[in-house]
Amino acid sequence: MESALEAVAERLRGAARVTALTGAGVSAASGVPTFRGDGGLWRTYRASELATPEAFERDPALVWEWYDWRRQTIAACEPNPAHRVLARWSERPGFTLITQNVDGLHERAGSRDVLRFHGSIWHVRCRDGCAASPASWRDDTVPYPALPPPCPYCGGIIRPDVVWFGETIDPDVFARCSEATLCDVFLAVGTSAVVFPAAGLVHEAKRRGALTVEINVEDTPASPHLDAVLQGKVEDVLVELDARLRT
Ligand code: NAD
Repeated sequence: MESALEAVAERLRGAARVTALTGAGVSAASGVPTFRGDGGLWRTYRASELATPEAFERDPALVWEWYDWRRQTIAACEPNPAHRVLARWSERPGFTLITQNVDGLHERAGSRDVLRFHGSIWHVRCRDGCAASPASWRDDTVPYPALPPPCPYCGGIIRPDVVWFGETIDPDVFARCSEATLCDVFLAVGTSAVVFPAAGLVHEAKRRGALTVEINVEDTPASPHLDAVLQGKVEDVLVELDARLRT
């Protein structure tokens, strides 16, 4: 681990372009539950049963209860040292931060221009895309007084502006993420690497010549294909890497 850490630090020092892709593991130390691993269940439901357009069609109140609970949980959480290191690195020219997280903690830690691959739990939109409403708007109401919350523009209902399983990624965001795979070092941080197309980015980076590095507490399906695996808690490993970059 020691020599792997130093080798990655060395490559980061000399890198002109660095891209980091983060997943739910980055927010675990802040107290935001991940989808997989310990604490991955809400009541008896798996995320994959609730984060779908079909589930919302069937029972919008149930899906909103889950989102309302997640919003309350996240509102009470603070960014952790991993978010803060990435916020510092985002000031470096050539650094791109892509996140699968919808919690907004990177932005709260000070990261700017975050590419939000799966949207934001703090943004909503009219379920029916009514003509009077904006495409998406920020709504910090926690908790909502009634579920599902009404659309203030047409009286229908709103939905979280997140990308559910089976939905497509915003093409502009996807193009910018794909562009960012052309880099010297690509870090896959705290992600189970099973949710595609996000999980494909690290492989695209490798094909394009980047040093690919995974930081996770456990192996993932991507691990055997990457150049370096730093096993440990992201909040510890990133702080250690950051310390080495400053010396
Ligand atoms: P995931 O829940 O599938 O996997 C989490 C990964 O983080 C696992 O591989 C686990 O081993 C690792 N991990 C847990 N704690 C860690 C730590 N302290 N340090 C390092 N690694 C740690 O999450 P995912 O890969 O992001 O994909 C699932 C989808 O879930 C994403 O699309 C995302 O939108 C959504 N999600 C978001 C949040 C959030 O916004 N915080 C939370 C849960 C799920």
